[in-house]
Amino acid sequence: MLNIIVSGASGRMGSRIIALLRERDDMKLAGVLERSNHEYLGKDIGEVTGTGATGVKITDNINEIAGSADVVIDFSSPSATIEYLKSISGKPMPVVIGTTGFSKEETEYIKLYAQNTPCVFAPNMSVGVNLLLKVLEDIVRITGDDYDVEIIEAHHRLKKDAPSGTAMKMAQVLARALNRNLEETAVYARHGLIGERSPKEIGIQTIRAGDIVGEHTVLFGGLGERIEITHKASSRDTFARGALKAAQWVYKQTPGLYDMQDVLGLK
Ligand code: NAD
Repeated sequence: MLNIIVSGASGRMGSRIIALLRERDDMKLAGVLERSNHEYLGKDIGEVTGTGATGVKITDNINEIAGSADVVIDFSSPSATIEYLKSISGKPMPVVIGTTGFSKEETEYIKLYAQNTPCVFAPNMSVGVNLLLKVLEDIVRITGDDYDVEIIEAHHRLKKDAPSGTAMKMAQVLARALNRNLEETAVYARHGLIGERSPKEIGIQTIRAGDIVGEHTVLFGGLGERIEITHKASSRDTFARGALKAAQWVYKQTPGLYDMQDVLGLK
């Protein structure tokens, strides 16, 4: 039985992870974390998310619950993730980090943490997007610099970071496969008299509207044709199931930083 802590427990992702976790007999909810000033602190997570009593009360202190847990699944915010990784460094615990929007420094801290503890760090935990990441490498191996690369992502109006972590991961994969430096070639917005498109640009465009769960299109524009590959998530459960799969997987690994491609055996 795998004992799991969910951080960001009453959020959109946290609450779906808890609901799906409770349907399984190989995992148990061992604790739930929320931010310090959250109105639900001390309450039963199942009661406040409307899924029925769990006996697990919401806390803001990971050290109160770490002793009874095997893995942390985190879908909170970048500063929250770094905060609890620092506070559990006395007793490193395998983690699955789904949170996105980390700064360079915060990402470096996660890498440091993973030197002593297995850690899955993935901006998108769906099978479909991870398959797509693999296919992108195959496409640019053939299209090379002859096709312009543009990424378009769309998410709900409440999403805080932009572009999405998934769009950035796609851009990194494409830049690496095309032998380009992403910092020099990424173009995040266009406006005004911008002149011709330079051949090595990787465009990354963001749409925010309504309740879109998550959509990503990669467009390869050639002369006389274009290829468009699109992934559309219609439910957050696809990410939540991926996170549970990652939790089972990460617990058995040696220390190191892994991603969803490792979990799904796509490397
Ligand atoms: P949300 O705002 O609905 O939920 C975030 C939750 O984290 C909130 O309940 C908030 O109160 C809580 N939180 C804030 N500070 C905290 C702290 N110090 N400790 C514990 N909890 C804290 O957001 P969401 O839509 O659930 O997304 C959460 C994160 O997951 C975002 O970064 C999002 O981009 C990312 N995400 C990743 C994937 C993936 O597959 N990897 C999929 C969807 C969303």
